[in-house]
Amino acid sequence: MVKYTRAFAIAFALCPLLAAGVLAQVLMPSIELLEGIESWRDSITVAEERYAIPEFWRGLRLGLDDQPAPPDLVPVPPELRIASREPVLRAPALAAFRALAEAAALDSIELRIRSGYRAPGEQIRLIASRIAAGREFDVVIRGVAPPGYSEHMLGMTVDLELGRDYLNNPSYLWLKENAASFGWRESYPRLAPTGFPWEPWHWRFVGMNDEELGMNDEERGMKENEQ
Ligand SMILES: [Zn+2]
Repeated sequence: MVKYTRAFAIAFALCPLLAAGVLAQVLMPSIELLEGIESWRDSITVAEERYAIPEFWRGLRLGLDDQPAPPDLVPVPPELRIASREPVLRAPALAAFRALAEAAALDSIELRIRSGYRAPGEQIRLIASRIAAGREFDVVIRGVAPPGYSEHMLGMTVDLELGRDYLNNPSYLWLKENAASFGWRESYPRLAPTGFPWEPWHWRFVGMNDEELGMNDEERGMKENEQ
């Protein structure tokens, strides 16, 4: 033992490169093991094929793959949703959405929910259906969150029926100007540095503090950039 210690000491003293090599060899197995565990935990299996969850999703996990549903989910009433769907939301988010929709209606903007709460397992179904339609996993996973990563599992997030031409879409422009005042935030804005595709229909209720009350999105963005 003493001999080894002395040999290491000499190696470190005489040749930093050699010492780095020795250290790397000593440390390498544990690093590989950790990476193995990480990729095992952060992978998903779709149609019997296992895929690693890409780097850009790392750190954004919101819950477990099989997280139970929140206890206070309530159905979105017909006047706040599109006719073909029956979404549910957590009660506080529904109340906050009603306030948002009522304010929008005063400006002749009609906001309707297409999708609300989704169980984590439903993400697998969405990913599988897109892969079955011939799309690549790497592309699909940018627009559809892996199970445990979707904001829809929180029950505080909505997909709205906005129509098309988002840059000139009156509902979207109204939301950009007013949604923050009601505690709603656009999760995937246009040209975001995160690399996620723009999802103008996807809004999350985050509540608001006194400072944010009355700020529009641009002002909030400037504030976030300062931090
Ligand atoms: Zn969404």
